[in-house]
Amino acid sequence: MTARVWNFSPGPATLPESVLERARERLAELPGVGASVVEISHRSAAFEDVVQEAERNLRDLLNVPESHHVLFLQGGASLQFSMAPMNLLRGSSAPAAYVVTGTWGAKALAEARKEGRVDVAWDGRDRGYTEVPDLRALELPGTASYLHVSSNETIQGVQFGEGFEPASGPALVCDASSDFLSRPLPIDRYGLLYAGAQKNAGPAGVTVVLLHDDLLERIPDGLPSMLDYRTHVENRSLYNTPPVFAIDLLMLVTRWLRDEIGGLDKMHERNREKAALLYDGIDASEGFYRGHASPPARSLMNVTFRLATPELESRFVAEARDEGLVELTGHRTVGGIRASIYNAMPAEGVRALREFMDDFADRAG
Ligand code: PMP
Repeated sequence: MTARVWNFSPGPATLPESVLERARERLAELPGVGASVVEISHRSAAFEDVVQEAERNLRDLLNVPESHHVLFLQGGASLQFSMAPMNLLRGSSAPAAYVVTGTWGAKALAEARKEGRVDVAWDGRDRGYTEVPDLRALELPGTASYLHVSSNETIQGVQFGEGFEPASGPALVCDASSDFLSRPLPIDRYGLLYAGAQKNAGPAGVTVVLLHDDLLERIPDGLPSMLDYRTHVENRSLYNTPPVFAIDLLMLVTRWLRDEIGGLDKMHERNREKAALLYDGIDASEGFYRGHASPPARSLMNVTFRLATPELESRFVAEARDEGLVELTGHRTVGGIRASIYNAMPAEGVRALREFMDDFADRAG
């Protein structure tokens, strides 16, 4: 096997090496079963154990209350952009409110508009999506059916800080794809939270949905079965064949968070330390590196910054790649550099990037 690089990909992203090792074993043969995890029925006792453990571990890690269902769905967060308004807005007289802090929130908004009336409660586009609002200070239009936010905008690198969730008001609906499991969350404040797994929780192919039981009452009849949350609640995510390998890997990631990291408080602390290494480097560079996000909105997951010219940025990326630091090119809409440092990126990898940044600035500055 070739040596592993420090992979700063925004997603699919680095997974813990110990999880990949376990997955390799279970791909060959599930202990005690005599067949691979991808070769057995999703209705077998062995696979039911996997789904149940994945749910139990998520409940433990996040303190998910009994009021909330835990679902494993397909179609990515992108399908949730449609499924959420289809289930919670279609046929409703009250508009939904959307807070748009970046590219993904804008996509969610566009899909919701196909389902019903939507008010934009806040939009950061004119400022280049560099900020996040204080949700408590927002004037929400009338009685909104729900309030949609993106807790972390993967492309711009802006994130709501810990405890941003309003304690009252309309049901909170959150796209947490790129910071799910990176810190503890007050799940009781959420009506619906969804996250594609391929950043922090596992591989692509499974989307985690946490849904308050009360919201099931709003769902209009007549939706296609696969797009109706009630189908998946009633069948405990086993209505049809689920993405078995992705769920197994997600389960292994939850074990890693519990056993090797020690829970989400510890994970959050590590993530804060890792992000500080890079933001301190940006701030100490005397303008050589310019952060995209305004400091209060800086993401702990995606660190975005610019250099003086696109040519210098290309040189940065190419020289970093030679040092085994890969996938640092920013998204085409923002440009510059993006270092995605999700849960599974070790501090050692972030330190290597910081050293490279300091050295590059010395040489090119
Ligand atoms: N929301 C956010 C915040 C994302 O980062 C992404 C993917 N990068 C998506 C939604 C879309 O996810 P998917 O590709 O799983 O549909």
